[in-house]
Amino acid sequence: MSKNTDELFKNVIAHAKEYGFVFPSSEIYDGLSAVYDYGQFGAELKNNIKTYWWKSMVQLHDNIVGIDSAIFMHPKIWKASGHVDGFSDPMIDNKDSKKRYRADQLLEERIAKLNEEGKTSEAEELQIEMDNALKAENLPRLRELIIEQNIKCPISGTANWTEVRQFNLMFSTQVGAIAEESDTIYLRPETAQGIFVNYLNVQKSGRMKIPFGIAQIGKAFRNEVIARQFIIRMREFEQMEMQYFVRPGTQKEWFEKWKETRLKWHLALGTDAAKYRYHEHTKLAHYADAAYDIEFEFPFGFKEVEGIHSRTDFDLSQHQQYSGKKMQYFDPELDENGKPYGNYVPYVIETSIGLDRMFLLTMINAYEEEDLSTDEKQDSRTVLRLHPCLAPVKAAIFPLTKKDGLPEKAREIMDTLKLDFNLQYEEKDAIGKRYRRQDAIGTPFCITVDHQTLEDNTVTIRHRDSMKQERVAAADLDKIIGDLVSWKNLLK
Ligand code: ATP
Repeated sequence: MSKNTDELFKNVIAHAKEYGFVFPSSEIYDGLSAVYDYGQFGAELKNNIKTYWWKSMVQLHDNIVGIDSAIFMHPKIWKASGHVDGFSDPMIDNKDSKKRYRADQLLEERIAKLNEEGKTSEAEELQIEMDNALKAENLPRLRELIIEQNIKCPISGTANWTEVRQFNLMFSTQVGAIAEESDTIYLRPETAQGIFVNYLNVQKSGRMKIPFGIAQIGKAFRNEVIARQFIIRMREFEQMEMQYFVRPGTQKEWFEKWKETRLKWHLALGTDAAKYRYHEHTKLAHYADAAYDIEFEFPFGFKEVEGIHSRTDFDLSQHQQYSGKKMQYFDPELDENGKPYGNYVPYVIETSIGLDRMFLLTMINAYEEEDLSTDEKQDSRTVLRLHPCLAPVKAAIFPLTKKDGLPEKAREIMDTLKLDFNLQYEEKDAIGKRYRRQDAIGTPFCITVDHQTLEDNTVTIRHRDSMKQERVAAADLDKIIGDLVSWKNLLK
């Protein structure tokens, strides 16, 4: 990270805390690693991002419905999905510093360094060795590579390493009063399985015809060993996932469609397209026959925000096998030879976006330290140029002074608008200072009620981005705000 981008990232994190967007969890107890709380404006922004996703996925597609499945699920689900046996990272400890590292990440860092030094063939060779060891789950070989490369712990500076062990990322807990192994259940590490196990319930109760989708927004939990980059990698986070059930043989077509549709969703927010890229997975997960990430250029580099996966019929077939219940769909339509498609286990295309990563992306994109200096004086402001649909507060209402009936008039105007928009009332400090506070949380409009308002029912409305002010009738505010923050502007 260069000094500038490093500083930008630090400033965004500080801003998020100072203005009530994101707080470290349990802060008065010195925090809890990789867990964060969303504050008063963060919760609003997060809800607006969820609404944008939900509307575009569920409301705009008459063949996609949304559900809300429980976090706790039958433990066999995680056996069937492969998470009990396979959802783990290879970890290695340094015996001197007692610090734990992901063995593959230590090697990845070494490969990057070799490349930086121009030793590309050595880097390539190491990459192949590491990939082979990971594929074969050859943990001793991973350790050997770390020793051969003389990789040292950055804390202790020694190469005194333990064996490499697999560390499962799922959190477990016990149901009931007595702790028995059979009562162990897991906090879901992804929301997808809640959709798979309900696929027949939804299909039957909703009389859904293939292709159809099931969407869900919810918490997921992963015991990430290396927590870094603020809310990028958390132990408790939120996902917005959609599983699209298709006829076998059509998955490639749908995969391409969803890949495109999802990137369009991101770009509709006005983000510079150069900040996004697709990353194709060459090492595919056991369940996938194609996978792409949508990556965003964060200050620390490109990072996955969303995954588009062609999951084949793996999950439904596994649940069919483990539960003993048929997961088949009866397709009454005829193929080109006039033969009915009949019964089959559908194939699945998944779109899975991390809400917290989307939140951070949105904050970083919107954050600007704007220089407003003129020849006469130095001036600046920090403004969040959030899309108006996502802004936590749509308008702030200020009485010019705290007297002469202005607060009462401002409240009266606010009462006519607050059923439709999230508003803030502020009467403390000079107007200029109040403007700056609203700029910092991304409020598109500030409305000032002054003495003239008492006479002719007009107010001053000030626009966040241009900082221009105009005089308008209070009766028109509803339309002015409504036009700018309408979901129609985003969901075209
Ligand atoms: P990564 O490679 O970064 O660990 P992943 O490939 O394991 O991510 P998926 O299992 O595909 O991620 O999950 C889908 C989305 O959930 C990711 O694109 C990401 O936005 C989000 N996500 C995954 N793990 C975390 C986490 N620990 N904290 C916050 N968001 C996460």
